[in-house]
Amino acid sequence: MEAKRSRTLRRVGILTSGGDAPGMNAAVRAAAALLSGRGVEPVGVYFGYRGLLREEIEPLTPAHVAHIIRDGGTILGSARCPEFMEPAGRQRAREILARHQIDGLIVIGGNGSLAGAAALTDPEEAGEEAISVMGVPASIDNDIGLTGLAIGVDTAMNTIVEACDKISDTASAFNRAFIVEVMGRDSGYLAMTAAVAAGADAVLFPESGRDEDEIVTSVVETIEAVLARQRRSRRALIIKAEGTRLSVDRLKALVDARMAATHGEDRPRVETRVTVLGHVVRGGRPSAFDRLLASRLTRVAVDALLAGRTREMAAWMVPMVPDAAKVVRSDSDPYCWLVELGAVLAETRRLLDGTSPLVQWRSRALDDVAPVLVL
Ligand code: ADP
Repeated sequence: MEAKRSRTLRRVGILTSGGDAPGMNAAVRAAAALLSGRGVEPVGVYFGYRGLLREEIEPLTPAHVAHIIRDGGTILGSARCPEFMEPAGRQRAREILARHQIDGLIVIGGNGSLAGAAALTDPEEAGEEAISVMGVPASIDNDIGLTGLAIGVDTAMNTIVEACDKISDTASAFNRAFIVEVMGRDSGYLAMTAAVAAGADAVLFPESGRDEDEIVTSVVETIEAVLARQRRSRRALIIKAEGTRLSVDRLKALVDARMAATHGEDRPRVETRVTVLGHVVRGGRPSAFDRLLASRLTRVAVDALLAGRTREMAAWMVPMVPDAAKVVRSDSDPYCWLVELGAVLAETRRLLDGTSPLVQWRSRALDDVAPVLVL
């Protein structure tokens, strides 16, 4: 665990970075309010690491953050910054932080943003004088290692479920099969959980490792199984994660072709339709839970930073800890943990390449319930 420091922090920067997530504003608000309340000056770094390099840095008063808890997106803005991936870019960032007398940073964002926070304060690169940094996980994909949930996941899941409920209404009126694609290039978490919560008939996600033919077969079998139910108002709902091996248009074409070839005349024809929810899933007012999660995780991060800790991330109920030494329960909140950034990034890599025990458990769990999904 990172050693405690004795340095007293006077100015702490707050930045949001990478893919935006509903609830980021609740985290910004909590950070600004808590820091002010503890006699530390909060400053907003606008547009992530890009804004840091452009010195888009301004004091953040409680007035700036009043009422933002209700708003989606992030008032600080977000951006991607390739320059920050290079040591020279990060060195310039350190000089800018020093010039602005910022001695601590709260980074609210996803994997890339947390990797940036770790690189910025890497003792080998930054030396002993590195500023203190704390990460707050925010990503609708829930693809950040060592936290049960990231900020934005709950709102995104609610958006998907609401959309699927609406699609189900119209689908059942017409005996249609709907394939709904949701965001998740590398992580099928949103698709998996939304499928259970929306009562979908099947779910397709990259972690399953199925090839194209297996995917098409499973979709056709699902639709056939739904059709075979002798009920009125039949609808088949298949939720597909964006990162699943084949595109939604190709999937529809292959499923339609297979169904046309195998359908007997005695069955009603089923139309397949595709809906891509895309960026809709990123937006919207944060759910009550996301506001609470963001506020609590940020409090843990602020407390830890002011207690002299650094290079950690506040985490919510850490599942399957590979190295217990790198995880410590927060003194501020019994549901929260502090996890070394290095351990977070290592587990994130395992989540994304499918070797994490958690991903394997999720896939198995969904395989187990697959027959139940098609009720
Ligand atoms: P997210 O935080 O949502 O995963 P990105 O992957 O786009 O989003 O990362 C946001 C920014 O973080 C990048 O544009 C880059 O500036 C910085 N970043 C990402 N990965 C690294 C890295 N390995 N080292 C340093 N900075 C990084």
